[in-house]
Amino acid sequence: MSEPLGLFGGTFDPVHFGHLRLAEEAIVHLGLGGVRWMPAGQPPHRGVPQVTAEQRLAMVRLATAGNERFAVDAGEVEAAAPSYTVHTLERLRAELGVTQPLVLLVGADAFAGMASWHRWRDIFALAHVAISHRPGFPVEASSLPHELATEFNDRRLSHAGDLKAMPGGGIVTFAMTQLAISATQIRKLLSNELSARYLLPDSVLDYIRTHSLYRNP
Ligand code: ATP
Repeated sequence: MSEPLGLFGGTFDPVHFGHLRLAEEAIVHLGLGGVRWMPAGQPPHRGVPQVTAEQRLAMVRLATAGNERFAVDAGEVEAAAPSYTVHTLERLRAELGVTQPLVLLVGADAFAGMASWHRWRDIFALAHVAISHRPGFPVEASSLPHELATEFNDRRLSHAGDLKAMPGGGIVTFAMTQLAISATQIRKLLSNELSARYLLPDSVLDYIRTHSLYRNP
């Protein structure tokens, strides 16, 4: 089997160094061949983002440029439909074949809400799930809703190396450099005309400035 491929979805409103380190460290810790970034078009779980989907996509392209292990998937932005992860995974399965190990990358906060996702249980038939630690969000069964805790316990793989033995269905956790950066914090700083430098790539900040994004709270 080929190396597992990481799939990283998010609103990326805007993309920041927490996202970039998560993807970078996932490659190392999980032995991934690369990471496909999948900015959400119409995120179903939150309010309308402050900037357009195309602008969020453009910022992800700028942030990931130059890393040959990163690729950007515009499918969710281009689809005129809510961005359900299960649909995206079905599309990727059709594209990549049934044997390619796929690993959906999620932060601990995102995983904790997974039981509210559309057809969430079907996701395990399509991909593994790798949960990264995030400051303030413990990764333990006792802090998860009951049905998700059950999946977490039953599907847990003890070694990241096991990811390549199956196309999907397992759950792993991985510790990444803890960065208490959030897009919410960045949007707040920018709307208050405060510096967000060193929380996200300069190329993304330049784009934000050029397009006058996040000016109003
Ligand atoms: P917001 O503050 O607007 O909710 P966010 O910073 O959480 O945004 P998202 O685009 O919602 O960013 O996150 C995409 C994915 O990245 C999610 O799985 C989330 O858990 C993860 N993530 C975001 N920031 C971090 C971070 N600092 N450390 C670890 N994981 C993170």
